[in-house]
Amino acid sequence: MIDTARAKTHAKTHLIVGDGTTAVAFLEKCALESGDRLILLGKNIAELGRGAAYAKGEAGTPWRYAYLLNSPADDIDREFARWLSDNWQSIQSTMADRTPNWLASAQPLVDAGNIHGLNAPREFYGDFMVEHTEKVLAALRIKGVQVELINDEATAIDTSDAGNLVQTNANGVIYADSADIAPGGPSTLRIEGDEGAFAVPNVFGFEAQIAEHIKAGREIFCIGGNAAMLDVLRLCQSLLPDADVKLAFCAPDGEVPAALIPRLPRKLTIPSFSKGHATAESFLKEVRREIDAALARGDEMREIRAGFRAHFLENPLSAYITNANEARIVPATLRFWLRGGTRDTIQDLHGFIKSGQARIVTGLVQKVEHGADGATVHVIDASGAVTQDETGFVINTAGAGPNSRYDPLTEDMLSKGLIHNCPISKGLKVGAGLRTALPSVRHLSPATTVIGDEVMAMPLYDVHMLRHFVAKA
Ligand SMILES: Cc1cc2nc3c(=O)[nH]c(=O)nc-3n(C[C@H](O)[C@H](O)[C@H](O)COP(=O)(O)OP(=O)(O)OC[C@H]3O[C@@H](n4cnc5c(N)ncnc54)[C@H](O)[C@@H]3O)c2cc1C
Repeated sequence: MIDTARAKTHAKTHLIVGDGTTAVAFLEKCALESGDRLILLGKNIAELGRGAAYAKGEAGTPWRYAYLLNSPADDIDREFARWLSDNWQSIQSTMADRTPNWLASAQPLVDAGNIHGLNAPREFYGDFMVEHTEKVLAALRIKGVQVELINDEATAIDTSDAGNLVQTNANGVIYADSADIAPGGPSTLRIEGDEGAFAVPNVFGFEAQIAEHIKAGREIFCIGGNAAMLDVLRLCQSLLPDADVKLAFCAPDGEVPAALIPRLPRKLTIPSFSKGHATAESFLKEVRREIDAALARGDEMREIRAGFRAHFLENPLSAYITNANEARIVPATLRFWLRGGTRDTIQDLHGFIKSGQARIVTGLVQKVEHGADGATVHVIDASGAVTQDETGFVINTAGAGPNSRYDPLTEDMLSKGLIHNCPISKGLKVGAGLRTALPSVRHLSPATTVIGDEVMAMPLYDVHMLRHFVAKA
């Protein structure tokens, strides 16, 4: 049992909850001195830095290293792009003879001196983050900070004269003078019938079960057409020759996200907006105009997306829209217009659509029914008409939605009013500097949409954005 009692001898105890990239961003900001105590608490603390997205894959599985980053390496993190170049030889040997053939798809960029533009396997970003985290921890230890790593889940937080009291599953109550909470986003929304003989409620963690159905030759039907659907395609390709892949996906707009192409020299679209908009509608008209103008000039979606992202990091929505509630309407549309994803997978997907091996179903899935040898998916379209789609096996890749849940600590903080749900932008709302109602406790999640007076124009999904807001806090 770890001694988590408040240690009077230590000048200060700081707690970080979470083990992903945001926890590491908070770690980098730690202003602790010799004799202070730092507690890092996460459900997979031995892999601090990976979190949900960059997990270590299971050795020996065909799908290990199949899932790719959504953006070119240097859009994710310049240091990571350098790491990728520096480690290129060992990466080549790790990726040799893998299906799909990531190295072959990388070769034209490598030949053009554009390793920094590759969509690397996500596990490599995890490797980089773990190495980086070890260096940050070593520097704190050398400074004399007492560092403790605890593998556990935080479930609740309260405050007392002794400081903040964080309840855990296995280690009782942890006392901390201050805390940074980085618990990740909410669960995937559940859809009636998404767990059963011919459906699973998520791709991650269900690969072995899904693999049986892929290998049996069933069509794989994804509920949702975003990043997790692209991961499912990679999973299929890791198990079957391309000629045998059969995929369907259902998305409200029935469109494939744009591939983020990393041209050289790198360029960012620079948008220009006028100030003083009274409504979201009026501002969005200008945004649309700027996107269309950039597309007409021949800008790639990577250039537009990264350019807008950089612009909104420097110029918050409040600079353009006078009414905060109107500003909160903007992110949902921007997210949709600036959708983009992994170059390799999207290019493959277009090929499968062309050959008739992948099909798009337009609408929203209402429920899944299980038959003797497959599933029936009930889909409602924009006109309200419901159709039934027969398929082999269904995977819920819908992402978060109305019935999603956060981790227990975040749910506890919401129930106590320490942080809030924003009913308009449908994300989490924290105070300026990521403050919660407890003055020495901060909270940041990819689902955070409002920070103080600032509305996040683009979702904090991208790792770069999360790190930016921690650095700024
Ligand atoms: C499958 C997937 C793929 C993604 N791909 C990309 C990509 O290609 N590019 C990109 O920019 N972004 C991507 N993202 C977005 C990603 O969420 C962010 O990039 C970023 O890594 C989020 O980091 P985080 O630390 O905030 O959250 P997480 O990575 O979710 O980490 C939070 C960690 O804290 C732990 N935890 C949660 N609650 C508690 C608790 N109460 N007590 C203790 N521990 C807790 C969780 O187990 C988790 O490991 C992806 C996300 C997912 C889920």
